[in-house]
Amino acid sequence: MPSQSSPIYDRNNIFARILRGEAPCTRVYEDEYALAFRDIYPKAQVHVLAIPKGEYVSLTDFSQSAPPELITGFWRAVTRVAETLSVAGGYRIGSNVGPGGGQVVFHFHVHILSGPRT
Ligand code: AMP
Repeated sequence: MPSQSSPIYDRNNIFARILRGEAPCTRVYEDEYALAFRDIYPKAQVHVLAIPKGEYVSLTDFSQSAPPELITGFWRAVTRVAETLSVAGGYRIGSNVGPGGGQVVFHFHVHILSGPRT
């Protein structure tokens, strides 16, 4: 299990495989910094995951190690996706960090949710 201080990135995690096109996803947005796709077990009317195009285990790893251009580009993509998909004019975002934070896929991702919980 990766620790937050010295994360080990598993290149076979499911989101890495989606990024490489080896596993399917329902894509809603893509640019040079990010890919966004529908969560397979949606917890709200809209539930999309956004992932950066880089090997980062968690939000902590991304924030500490990614180049500034990728950090900026990724968060701009997140808000672009959220604004596009939001229902009733609002949304919420979150990121689980580490096993104790409920993270189960160890490629940094942001949950974008909008509308009633399902
Ligand atoms: P977490 O790591 O706890 O922040 O959440 C991982 C999320 O990824 C969960 O909400 C899963 O439903 C979702 N998930 C896992 N595998 C896939 C997949 N192949 N395609 C889309 N979403 C997935």
